[in-house]
Amino acid sequence: MYYFVTYALLAVGVIASLIASVKLKSTFRKYSKVGNSRQMTGREAAERILRSAGIYDVQVEHISGDLTDHYSPNEKILRLSDSVYGSTSVAAVGVAAHECGHAIQHQEGYAPLKLRSLSVPLANVGSKLSWPIIVLGLAFSWYRVVDIGILLFAVVVFFQLITLPVEVNASSRALRVLEGNGILVDQELGGARKVLTAAAFTYVASLLNAIIQLARLLLIRNNRRR
Ligand SMILES: [Zn+2]
Repeated sequence: MYYFVTYALLAVGVIASLIASVKLKSTFRKYSKVGNSRQMTGREAAERILRSAGIYDVQVEHISGDLTDHYSPNEKILRLSDSVYGSTSVAAVGVAAHECGHAIQHQEGYAPLKLRSLSVPLANVGSKLSWPIIVLGLAFSWYRVVDIGILLFAVVVFFQLITLPVEVNASSRALRVLEGNGILVDQELGGARKVLTAAAFTYVASLLNAIIQLARLLLIRNNRRR
C-alpha cells in the first residue's frame, strides 16, 4: 500500500509535467503560424517595450534553440530564441514581451524576483546534491544525513514556489504592455495570452512535481525509521 501511494504520487507529477509541456509546445506552434498585423519581430517588440518602460541599458540578443528565451538580470541581457527573435508571429511577440516583463521587474526591484535571484545558488546546490545525499543516507541508515538531503530538496521546492508568482506577474505585465502600446490587437492578444498561460502551466506542473517528490521523500524516510 505504502509503495503504491508513493509511486502513484510520482506518476501524477510526471504525467502533469508531460501534459503541460506538450500543451505549451502545441500552443506555441499554433500561434507561431499566426502573424501580427504590425509585422513586428520579437526583437523589435522587445526593444520597443523596453524603451517605453524607460529601460535603455538592456541588450536584446539572439540565442539558439527553442523556448530558450530568458532575461539575465546580472548581465542585463534579454535573449530571444530562434522562433522568437526574428519572427513576426503572435507567439514570438508574446514571449518577447514576457521576457521584457522580467526586465521591468528587475528595474522596479520587484521583491519576488529578488528573492528568486537570491535563492538560485542554493537551489542549484540543492538540485545537484539532495538526491546523492539522500540515497547515501538511506543506504547506511544515517537518518541525520537523509534529513540534510531532504532539507536541500526543500530549498528546490521553495525555488519552484517563488518562481510561480515571478512568471505569472511577468506575463500579466507583458499582456498589459502589448495592449497599451498597441503592439497586438484583438484576437492577437488572445493568442499571446494562450501561449503565456500554457507557459505558466509548465511552472505549476514543476511545482506540483517538486511538492510530490518532497512528500514522497518524507514518506520513505518515516517508513524506514519505523
Ligand atoms: Zn519568465
